[in-house]
Amino acid sequence: AEAALIQSEKLAAVGRLASSISHEINNPLEAITNLLYLIALSEDLPESTRQYLQTAQSELSRVCQIATQTLRFHRQAVRATHVSAADLVDAVLNLYQGRLANSHIQVDARYATSTTILCFENDIRQVLNNLIANAIDAMRPGGGRLIVRAHDATDYSTDYQEPRHGIRITIVDTGHGMSPTVKARLFEPFYTTKDLNGTGLGLWISAGIVTRHQGKLTYRSSEHPIHHGTIFSLFLPWAEVDTPVSA
Ligand code: ADP
Repeated sequence: AEAALIQSEKLAAVGRLASSISHEINNPLEAITNLLYLIALSEDLPESTRQYLQTAQSELSRVCQIATQTLRFHRQAVRATHVSAADLVDAVLNLYQGRLANSHIQVDARYATSTTILCFENDIRQVLNNLIANAIDAMRPGGGRLIVRAHDATDYSTDYQEPRHGIRITIVDTGHGMSPTVKARLFEPFYTTKDLNGTGLGLWISAGIVTRHQGKLTYRSSEHPIHHGTIFSLFLPWAEVDTPVSA
């Protein structure tokens, strides 16, 4: 418990740091983005300069992506609201419809709950976004199956004195699964196996959001040659939300 506490304090400190850095750098980043765009408009650039410019732009967009992700996580002026778990999952899935179809992924989504939960809706959306995006990535390039379920559930974990009622959302993919090395690190900030296509912030941010909702995010993953894939399971209690850490 001691180690877990130190770890969570460390993460909170990293979070505050990330938040202030992204505040400070977002405006200049936007300015640079606009300036590079204007430069790229000129017609008389030598080919080599144009290439440098392109590289600069794509590197910059990566920095912007990291900055907005960390910033969004810590902006918490909004209030928690009651939302239907099934509607939430459905809305996120709809967003990915095009990408899922293009990636040859068959979707099987079924919800056996009409429960509403009290939550920061945008944050929970972001968690679901991250989980679904990861599932899609894991099934590249061959495609596969994405199974999504939502149902009423009880969490019996001993971290709390009493069993807690809420909802459980599970997201199953038939992707490549995770090696022991990845499993040991997947919740670390900036840990990614996707090189320039990943930020390594998705699961770290998601874990923070889930903790703030006093929920649980767990997973199982297998690299078995036939039965490979990953299950992420998100438990959210009915109505327990921490007050926002930072405004
Ligand atoms: P990113 O997606 O930007 O890499 P994440 O924090 O969301 O950052 O994920 C960290 C790493 O965890 C990923 O790079 C990937 O290696 C692994 N991972 C996450 N979800 C899955 C999944 N569903 N299947 C296989 N690997 C996964």
